[in-house]
This record gives sequence, structure tokens and C-alpha cells, in this order.
Amino acid sequence: MINIDFLLAGCNTRCMHCYVGGGPGKQMDTEDALRCLEKLDAVAAFLPGAADLTLDHEPINHPDAGRIIRAAAGTRHVRNYHHGMTTGIAVMGRSDRDDVLRAYRECGYSHFGITVHGNAAHHDEIVRRKGAYEKTVAAARYLKEQCMALEVSLMLNRFFPADAESITELLEELQPDSVFCAIPVFTPVGSMEEFESCRANLQELEAMKDYLPRWKQDGEAFLRNARELTVSAAAEKLKKGPGLRALFEAPQDEVYLTVHPDCLLYVGNSGAETRCLGDLRTLDPEKTAEEIRKLPGNRDYGAFYDPTDLPDTYDLVQALECLPQELVYGDFESTLYRGLAELGVPTRMDAFRKKRDLYMQQKELLDTFLAHGAITRAQYDKSFGDLTVKMGMGLEN
Ligand code: SF4
Repeated sequence: MINIDFLLAGCNTRCMHCYVGGGPGKQMDTEDALRCLEKLDAVAAFLPGAADLTLDHEPINHPDAGRIIRAAAGTRHVRNYHHGMTTGIAVMGRSDRDDVLRAYRECGYSHFGITVHGNAAHHDEIVRRKGAYEKTVAAARYLKEQCMALEVSLMLNRFFPADAESITELLEELQPDSVFCAIPVFTPVGSMEEFESCRANLQELEAMKDYLPRWKQDGEAFLRNARELTVSAAAEKLKKGPGLRALFEAPQDEVYLTVHPDCLLYVGNSGAETRCLGDLRTLDPEKTAEEIRKLPGNRDYGAFYDPTDLPDTYDLVQALECLPQELVYGDFESTLYRGLAELGVPTRMDAFRKKRDLYMQQKELLDTFLAHGAITRAQYDKSFGDLTVKMGMGLEN
């Protein structure tokens, strides 16, 4: 399975727990976006399995959102996966929001979701934008009026027990079609460590026991799961498991790729890029598909850390035993990454960033030589092409 995150326009918040490197950012030129969608479709035609793309971070921020959504929905070999989640800020910021929603509806996308992080003050604190809660709620009301199916994600944190009453009132008013309670994961991406002071522990989650059924949750199943996701439970599981190297070397079957607003195609999920395949606009579809087929899966574990950089399993167990034992993470993998971050283990992304900086320096040097006539255009093209391939910054043209 191939998943492609297509970064069309920056998002409106800077959530502390963001694991996809979100936040305000550049927007892709409309013609480039249409060309890249076409090219992805052509690449996917040469891929053996399923391929999904997701317009992301946040497509509704793009002035030509309607046109791009229709183009994404019209691809033949890559499926446009509409996750539907939005902060609502982009929706409420558009005077043509009815038209944008019509584009979604006509393409068969009829569900949308909002994420709630607590009461208004806590929500705004976690997403780091004043007034964000108000916009999110306004968007939810608007989406309901437009007869969209509404999903509410409750992104749990330590404020939830105190905010439970106001969250219940909101859900009673909105009457969403579904509610999902999520415990934030941890990956070694961006500034996720800033969320750690807001992370809920098991006692805080248990304090919400009576509210969970009112939020359409199976409370017992939720808490049973949470008990298995504490730091102490992860340390025990790690002690009994096959060892760190085995976990991080196990083959994975999902490949994540990201297209940036400058049209560069990267290996790795958004925020966790580890290699650049080149400018999607000019890449050869068949050759690109061939390269993608060779990529190892990169959803977890080895996506972030080179197994040769890992500490002994025992050292990680010790690091986990030094963390607050009752903190709860979204999955077992997250707890391991949290321990590795505590140990300062370098990530694949760190290594890639260093390589990219060096590449840019060398490119600038070549640019200077060319500008001063020290090398010919042919020499420049040859040297630049060799440099690009050698440093893993693109495919050979
Ligand atoms: S979690 Fe989503 S909404 Fe929040 S910063 Fe990241 S991409 Fe943006």
C-alpha cells in the first residue's frame, strides 16, 4: 500500500502534538497542483498495489480548493482519500464556502470532522491559536446545516476531566454522527515534546469513566486499552518482546511519500521525510514507480530510526523506567520513541536534514561557478545531476 501526503496549503493551527510537521505553510501553485496530481496518477499506473493520496494541511485553505478537489477525485490509478478532518478555520474564513462544500459533495465526500482538545481555553492553548475553538465549533454547526455527516474527535489530554462537562454540552448540542476518543501518539517529529506536559495519565483518563458512555464510547474497552498503553506497561512488554533490533528491522508493508508545495516528492510521511526523489513535475512516471517499488515500508519503527543507531533494549527499558510511569500514549511504538528521544538517539530525519543542508551548500557553489563562467552549462548539469543522485536528493533524469 502506498500513501501519499499531498501538501497543498499550510494548516491554520500549530498543534503541540502534531506528528506530521503541520502548521502554517506555503501553498502550491494551482497549475502545479493539477500537474502533480496528473503525474501521481501516471506514476500509480505503474505501481502494482493500491495507492492513496490525501490532500492535506489544509486543502480548504487553497484559493482553488474546489478545482483541485475535483481533479484529485478524478484520478484513475490513485485514490483520493478524504479524511474529512478540519480545524474549521479555513472553512469559516471563506466567503465561497458553499461552493467548496458543493465540490466535495459532488465528488462523493459527505463527511467532515472537527477535533476538540478541551474547553475553549485549553483547546486554543493546545492548538496554539487564539479563537480556534470558536471557529471549530462554528464550522461544525455550519457542516451540520449543510447536511454533512459530522465526526468529532476528542484529542485527550490532562485537561479533559476538568473540561468534561463543557465537552458533554458541546456534543449534546452538535449531535455528531460519530465521536472518536484519541490518545495522542508520540513520534520524533517536530516539537512534539512540548505536548508532554499536557499528556494525560491513567488516573486522569479513569476520572472520565462516567463521561465516556455519554461520548458514545465503550468506557470499559477504552480504559482497558489505556491500561495497556502506559509507560510501565510498555516497559514490561519491551522486556518480554523480541528486542529492539527485531522490532525496528521487521518488514513493513506500507510506504509513505509526501509531495511538498514546491512539488518535490519525498520518501517518508509529512514531517518525517528521509529522502527526496525529485521534482514531481519533471520525474519520469515509470522510473519513479520503479524506485517506489524498491522502497521498504516506512510507517513506523525503521521509518524514524536506523537500527544501527539503537541502544540496547535494556538501556531503553531503563530510560522508560525514569519517565512518569502512568502516562498514556496512543500506541506502544510511541512509548518506545519517547524513550529513544529521552536517550537522544539520532533519527533518520536528522541525518536527512544534515545531508540536505550539505547538498544545498554544494549546489550554491556550483551556481557560483556557473555564474562566474568557471564551468560550462554542460559541466554544471553533469555535476549537479551526479551530486543529486549521489546525495539521495533525486532520481537520475
Ligand atoms: S495536527 Fe493537523 S491541524 Fe494540527 S498542526 Fe498538525 S496538521 Fe495542523
